[in-house]
Amino acid sequence: MQILEIREKSIPIHSSIRNAVVDFSNMNISAVAVITDIIKEGKRVIGFGFNSNGRYSQSDLINNRLTPRIMELKPDEYINKKGNNFDPVKLKAAMLKNEKPGGHGERAIAVAAIEIAIWDAVAKIAETPLWKLLGGQGAQSKVFVYAAGGYYDAEKGIKGLRDEVNKYLDNGYTWVKIKIGGMSLDQDLKRIDAALELLGSGDKLAVDANGRFDRRRAFQYADALESYGLRWFEEPGDPLDFSLNAEVVARYRNAIATGENLFSLQDATNLLRHAGLRSNVDYVQFDPSLAYGVTENIEIIKMMSSNGWSVEQFFPHGGNLLSLALTGAFKLGGCESYPGVFQPFGGFSDSNLIENGFVNLPEEPGIGFEGKADLHNLLSTLVRD
Ligand code: MG
Repeated sequence: MQILEIREKSIPIHSSIRNAVVDFSNMNISAVAVITDIIKEGKRVIGFGFNSNGRYSQSDLINNRLTPRIMELKPDEYINKKGNNFDPVKLKAAMLKNEKPGGHGERAIAVAAIEIAIWDAVAKIAETPLWKLLGGQGAQSKVFVYAAGGYYDAEKGIKGLRDEVNKYLDNGYTWVKIKIGGMSLDQDLKRIDAALELLGSGDKLAVDANGRFDRRRAFQYADALESYGLRWFEEPGDPLDFSLNAEVVARYRNAIATGENLFSLQDATNLLRHAGLRSNVDYVQFDPSLAYGVTENIEIIKMMSSNGWSVEQFFPHGGNLLSLALTGAFKLGGCESYPGVFQPFGGFSDSNLIENGFVNLPEEPGIGFEGKADLHNLLSTLVRD
């Protein structure tokens, strides 16, 4: 058995949305196909993957640095011990040959797109959904998801925000996250009041500043938000300013959430060591599709457990089928969802509706892309000659 070819395509995910820092109108991502020589039920096994939204496509790294390192291996260098499947750990190690430690950046995103496609192929070869392959008997077949939206839109205003929250509730979600920091504090508090009126209680609403605030503004918002008892206050300051994060944690009684912009096991470890986070209160949100993929995230989950953290405090960023699979496999607290945005990469299977905040995991072998028609159609263009 062998990998015949790895193909990559940069695909736009146009969106008019905006958070406190980023305008998404020029966003794109890398989609990857790992083409194997294996035939299952008359069809060639092809693994698909893509990096998460928010960090752009990585065509040069994927095509000119990482893929050649895999293609120059002999098949017996990446087959598992039983000889019946590929070994993603060996393939990831090959991609990172001659790479210096630290400074993970764009490299972690490029590796993730390929590594996820490898895991999709591995689960398809095992004829099992990835979440079952990874989690075994301990996996959960239903996962809690929350609707991440509430982006700034000058035209829709408070009324539009209310309509949006109502739509999420009608569609089966019970928690919602909205953006803050893109307007004045007064205007943001009006948005929070409007959302809370519909959601009923603070624990059903999270807010996300996308790392925008300096110390003064982070404190100002922390003080203003405290009495709302929100589910969490996400990324108050720069994602790498662990000292500022620790200061906000010390000042703010309710939960802080962060981690979507840390891309490695070592960065995640440092976050838990140095950012003042409380294992019984705060949340982490590492994104497997930005942080070297599945294997690295399994190591992050193990690291959390060995540092006394419950995996229920881990809500992966990404809002896609891969984050959902890992959440089910390892019984993480829940998974972000982006209803209606970042399509077709965001979202879950067509047949699985959200009910009372939960969604069933897909039964298709692999990550489950074949159960989301618009996504699968797009990914299939990679392998149509
Ligand atoms: Mg966020």
